[in-house]
Amino acid sequence: MNHPAPEQPADTVARLRAAFRTGRTKPVEWRTGQLRRLRAMLTERGAEIAAALHSDLGKSAAEAHRTEIDFTVREIDHTLAHLDEWLRPEPAPVPAHLGADATAWTQYDPLGVVLVIAPWNYPVQLLLAPVVGALASGDAVVAKPSELAPATSAALAELIPAYLDTEAVAVIEGGVPETTALLAERFDHIFYTGNGAVGRVVMRAAAEHLTPVTLELGGKSPVFVDRDTDLDVVADRLARGKFLNAGQTCVAPDYVLTDPETAAALESALARAVEGVYGADPAASPEYGRIVNERHFDRLSALLGSGRTAVGGGSDRTDKYIAPTVLADVAPDAPVMAEEIFGPILPIVAVPDLDAAIGFINDREKPLALYVFSESAAVRERIAAETSSGGLGHGLPLAHLTVSDLPFGGVGESGMGSYHGRYSIETFSHRKAVLAKPLG
Ligand code: NAD
Repeated sequence: MNHPAPEQPADTVARLRAAFRTGRTKPVEWRTGQLRRLRAMLTERGAEIAAALHSDLGKSAAEAHRTEIDFTVREIDHTLAHLDEWLRPEPAPVPAHLGADATAWTQYDPLGVVLVIAPWNYPVQLLLAPVVGALASGDAVVAKPSELAPATSAALAELIPAYLDTEAVAVIEGGVPETTALLAERFDHIFYTGNGAVGRVVMRAAAEHLTPVTLELGGKSPVFVDRDTDLDVVADRLARGKFLNAGQTCVAPDYVLTDPETAAALESALARAVEGVYGADPAASPEYGRIVNERHFDRLSALLGSGRTAVGGGSDRTDKYIAPTVLADVAPDAPVMAEEIFGPILPIVAVPDLDAAIGFINDREKPLALYVFSESAAVRERIAAETSSGGLGHGLPLAHLTVSDLPFGGVGESGMGSYHGRYSIETFSHRKAVLAKPLG
């Protein structure tokens, strides 16, 4: 049997660019129509998508819906509800020297053909939420899922063309060689989510074509726990935020800074919280995920030796299982403090006071998120004013990224640019300045 040769990246981009040139993606009806089709894909085929997520990452169906499928549906609904308002041209005051009859405004133009490259840890949400922004902005899109979540990548490569306009939306699967070939092409924007080393590769490739980039990267997101807080509440929220998806979340709390006395009390509170969330044997809990592959399992196993194991510590390579683990008495220069952990290991580093905690944070790269548990407004305000991070969460980890009206993105080493809701329109459009002066 003769199979047609697979389309080359250059041909895909040329085909999408030709479709964009016809203007088919510009009408708001096309945009909302595509968003509705994407929504239908997620709701009608949710079970298949959840099964793929279970196969790749051991995610339970409930978690797959909550953190990936329903999350993206909410992003679509929010966009559909507000798109007209976001796209409305915005008048600008005109200076007197141009005369009273001159008017000025800004309007959003689609960029053209954009590339979205996604990682494996939330392989549905992190591919599709940017795609929502690109479609809403009237762009043609090439979507590149992560090869490290192969079942999800295959499912999306099959479903997206079945639901969306194949003239303007393409999925290209693959790893480094395929992505390298794609990056040689000229795009009008590249939206990359993943680690900073590849972020640099993407930005270098983009520079060749003067293509703007959004880089959604990671880093070590600190947690500050103040003395005199309700540690059972803190531990419960920390455990749920840290151990979700077995710690493989870009905004997961990476490590805890607190004073030595609070550290001791927090250890036992975390032990209770982990048992409360995942039971006495997390390996048997259907709600607890697995490490994505052996390479990451081995990397994480090597970190288990830092400090003293206060909670968990167990692992099973054949099952890619690492228990929810808390490490106490961790030295600032321990291996677990060198790089983003991206797994279910939570080190506690004791610091004498708030000044030391702020110094500790500012001595390191700017994180994607920073979390503060404090009853004191003065403490919360000092941390907000004296540190820099992509996002800041008081009292609850992870949740800021579920607020569609907040921009989600990093700063410095944790990335550049942002998205979600109207910020996705900013990212995937050009805000054009227009001045009009009547000829009369
Ligand atoms: P990954 O290995 O899946 O890589 C991400 C993407 O980059 C994939 O599509 C992959 O094919 C591509 N890629 C890998 N090597 C490449 C190369 N040499 N050239 C071109 N493309 C290449 O995922 P990852 O990087 O391990 O993801 C984890 C990292 O991502 C963590 O640092 C995490 O914090 C970060 N992250 C950030 C966010 C965010 O929203 N800011 C979300 C999730 C993950």
